[in-house]
Amino acid sequence: MLMPYLMLGYAAAALLLLVGVEVCSRAVPGLRGVRILRWAMISAVVGVLLLALRSHAPNWISILCANAAIYACILLIYWATAEALDARARFLPWGGGLILAALGGQAFYVYAHDNLLARVLISSTAMAIVAGATAALLFRYEEPVEEWAQSGWSLRAQTRALAWLQVANGLDHVARLVLSVVYPPASYVHMDVIQAGFTYVNMLLNVAASCGVIWLALSVHRRGLQKAAGTDGLTGLLNRRAFEEILARDLRRANRDGRTLPVLLLDIDHFKAVNDSLGHQAGDQVIQRVADALRDCMRPSDVLCRFGGEEFVMLLNGATLDQADEIARRLRTEIMLLTRLPGGLRLTASLGVATSRAGELPEELLKRCDEALYRSKRAGRNRVTVDGMLSAGMRGKPEELIPWRALSPSGTDSARPR
Ligand code: GH3
Ligand code: MG
Ligand code: MG
Repeated sequence: MLMPYLMLGYAAAALLLLVGVEVCSRAVPGLRGVRILRWAMISAVVGVLLLALRSHAPNWISILCANAAIYACILLIYWATAEALDARARFLPWGGGLILAALGGQAFYVYAHDNLLARVLISSTAMAIVAGATAALLFRYEEPVEEWAQSGWSLRAQTRALAWLQVANGLDHVARLVLSVVYPPASYVHMDVIQAGFTYVNMLLNVAASCGVIWLALSVHRRGLQKAAGTDGLTGLLNRRAFEEILARDLRRANRDGRTLPVLLLDIDHFKAVNDSLGHQAGDQVIQRVADALRDCMRPSDVLCRFGGEEFVMLLNGATLDQADEIARRLRTEIMLLTRLPGGLRLTASLGVATSRAGELPEELLKRCDEALYRSKRAGRNRVTVDGMLSAGMRGKPEELIPWRALSPSGTDSARPR
């Protein structure tokens, strides 16, 4: 096989990928890693075109510069992969050193002892090491825990698939190395089956790895958008949209497994008066403090969300109704104990708890929970009501209850409808 033709095919593939990278980066601005991938593709095109000039250009161009560009390409793919995943590219300086050493070796076996086999061995070793480093980076990647429902491939599955691709890439170089020792190449321009075959497979794997970086970058970007769309800007908690998705998913699972799913709604009492007396900014601070307090009380399996305004909702996965009642009472106490609030304010909150019934829909469960909360409000606020109990349950000793007098101009707590 005449090597220049193979290299021209490689250059065409890299050029097409370069166009793909440009299209992606213009269509989705802010994609991580594609800027580096662009340089990787440019290096690939330059490298293989210089290699194709082997019979027409001096060795320093067609061997040294060509190899430098190709080594740079695979190291840039490593860097782009790390960048796409927002991971530290720890191997980068080592890879740079490795490339310089490999180029030194190439120069030695061009000018001191012209030895094609030694040059092939040096290239295969260097590229196998970089492929191994890229595989290790991908295998090590730990996907941040996502609370919201996700469809399609998880990032973890993607990174594993691409890590195995790099393992294949590394093995391709190792196999080439071994077979080149057994069957030493006679010429690089007129390639034998072994050299042509491995070069071809290697080209396919590098093209696939480059497409993989774009795939990763798009997934990371989509995850970021999904996160932003599901996050409440003021508190950093999930917003109602994300919560409803999770509730539907968890309720489906609970119904399928014959479990129940408790839900807790919490509404700050007389919050409007906080805004009216201290201003909207102070009101925002209060909402943030309450969110932090609730976050501190969460178990890892719980899902907490700002449901709207000064209302929060918690999904208590794996809890019984009694445990949910207990948690609700603890939350009520935590809110009462909040200090250093704007204007020396003391807060109370009303809570409603309900647990799912077999085959119940999310909106039916939320409606019962909301009714329980409404009963807490009507019964005088600062209390927990569990759906299914006869009356609004007063939880905690009455002397614990902080009268609204602290803020209310009239000093009375009229049971306003919500
Ligand atoms: P209740 O005890 O019956 O719950 O009375 P409340 O005053 O807490 O409830 P109401 O629904 O009457 O008022 C809620 C207020 O919350 C009205 C709205 O201006 C305020 N609010 C909603 N979202 C925000 C927000 O993001 N920041 C601030 N500062 N206030 C908000
Ligand atoms: Mg309220
Ligand atoms: Mg409210």
